[in-house]
Amino acid sequence: MLILMENQATEAQIQAVCQRIEALGFNPHVMPGATSTAVGVTGNTGPIGEDPFTAMPGVARLITVTRGFKLVSREFRSDLVGRDTRVQVGPDPDAAFGNGTFGLIAGPCSVESQEQILAAAHAVKRTGARFLRGGAFKPRTSPYAFQGLKEDGLKLLAEARDATGLRIVTEVKDTETLPMLADYADVLQVGARNMQNFSLLEAVGATGKPVLLKRGMSATITELLHAAEYIASSRRDQPGQDDIILCERGIRTFETITRNTFDINAIPVLKRMTHLPVIADPSHGIGIASDVPAIALAALAAGADGAIIEVHPDPARALSDGAQSLSPEAFDALVAKLRQLAPIVDKNIP
Ligand code: PEP
Ligand code: MN
Repeated sequence: MLILMENQATEAQIQAVCQRIEALGFNPHVMPGATSTAVGVTGNTGPIGEDPFTAMPGVARLITVTRGFKLVSREFRSDLVGRDTRVQVGPDPDAAFGNGTFGLIAGPCSVESQEQILAAAHAVKRTGARFLRGGAFKPRTSPYAFQGLKEDGLKLLAEARDATGLRIVTEVKDTETLPMLADYADVLQVGARNMQNFSLLEAVGATGKPVLLKRGMSATITELLHAAEYIASSRRDQPGQDDIILCERGIRTFETITRNTFDINAIPVLKRMTHLPVIADPSHGIGIASDVPAIALAALAAGADGAIIEVHPDPARALSDGAQSLSPEAFDALVAKLRQLAPIVDKNIP
């Protein structure tokens, strides 16, 4: 439920509403807006019942939010009228996603060696992208496939950050290794296979770090929003509550020529339903390097707030996902096209 206060409501009236919410055993969220304040209610598992608020001084009206996701929903956040949440990572105002900023994350699927990750990092940096991706703990379909360099990989990512200033995005595989990962990463990536690992979502939320949450390969848009709500609610009203970036990475369909089917629909639909930034992963979305640029451009045109793209200094020798990885030259060419398209769709690529 959302309680809209009158424009002239006093601080004492707002506090009285909060106290009534707490007395009912629920959690109030005060959201000051341009002209009036709204107070959101979470923690109720069903309808609040007989209206305890309408008669209170200063209350203008109530809006019922019946969905299982609230903190991430657009309608719940009347304080954000006409704008989206912008997630900034670290002190650089250009290392950001959302509210007009198209953020670029690029790098290899997996960290493989010092030479590989530094070459990738320098190539990514040259295009102006602010984020380096690279998996150190890889959730692979086969237990015999390359599983990542683990902590050694994290150390190499930290070295690449020191060398280039790029922010590090890396995947968290489980709650056991999360504390180690959180020591190195700037953005914690929750992969498709973990989107509904609810203990992991809560633990990732509790770190307070920015999160890149990927859509599960068979998850609906609504399930993705519920997963984001797990993260937001586990850091409710703390700094970083809104530091969640959603990612469409393709879903499983009957098609077999492409690795997945990039769901372009999800981008405008998510942007209508949530205030959080929504980015695209065209690499996993289609799985074919030569087709990745088309999908990246389509995602920008559809309103995406950024992209995460696999780039490898030598795709043919990659230990994972080489077939969908762009060479540094192909990535350069793609970024040049994205920069041309961005102003037409009211986006800025720093
Ligand atoms: C990845 O980013 O390399 C990855 C494993 O992605 P996803 O979780 O989307 O499959
Ligand atoms: Mn990959």
